[in-house]
Amino acid sequence: MFVGHYSVAFAAKSHKNKIPLWVLFVAVQFLDYIWATLVLLGIEKLRVIKGFTAGSMLDSYFHPYSHSLIAAIAWSCIAGLAYRIFCGRHSFYRKYAALIVGAAVLSHWILDLIAHPRDLAIYDNTWKVGFGLWNYRDPEFALEIGLLGPGIMLYLTRNAMPAIRKTAVIAFGVALVVIQIGHTYVPRTPLTDKATAMGVWVFYTLFVVVAFLIEKIGSRRQTNAP
Ligand SMILES: [Zn+2]
Repeated sequence: MFVGHYSVAFAAKSHKNKIPLWVLFVAVQFLDYIWATLVLLGIEKLRVIKGFTAGSMLDSYFHPYSHSLIAAIAWSCIAGLAYRIFCGRHSFYRKYAALIVGAAVLSHWILDLIAHPRDLAIYDNTWKVGFGLWNYRDPEFALEIGLLGPGIMLYLTRNAMPAIRKTAVIAFGVALVVIQIGHTYVPRTPLTDKATAMGVWVFYTLFVVVAFLIEKIGSRRQTNAP
């Protein structure tokens, strides 16, 4: 699962919980941030094999600290708690926001479960599960887009915003679809495990920066409005 994860970030944000969109963008990919970091440190193991599955080249054969169910639940609790600690004192903090952030982190594992070929452990490195939708390129792609679209629609309907930001959000959505098309359909030579992990850090952080900037668009005008 790739851009489909961001569907949860868009859908989770509302004017009631006031969680910054960029925080949710980090949350839904939090497990992959941990994973990429641990791969760079040589602790978790990854092979990049052309044609490993129809929709992905990643053979994540050892990732118990980032992608086992027990680890995912633990990271969700840590992320929710961190949000409570760091944002609890701010005026925008709302009750239950930490729970939503934690649930957003856990959503990553649930969506990965659909796409991954039996490489997700329940605990440690055993009892591996995964429905393997990555073995079917078009349905997996359809699911990514089928999730992202409604997520963005929900974001646009649940949050009042100036027209210019609405346009920017839609443009961002289109960009994510184009990136997913490239990811799924454009053939490329496999990178090394470390380069792949670096790529995850760079691209995911770029999306986080865009999510941050997008919620600034037209915000001054909105505050000054009578
Ligand atoms: Zn993942």
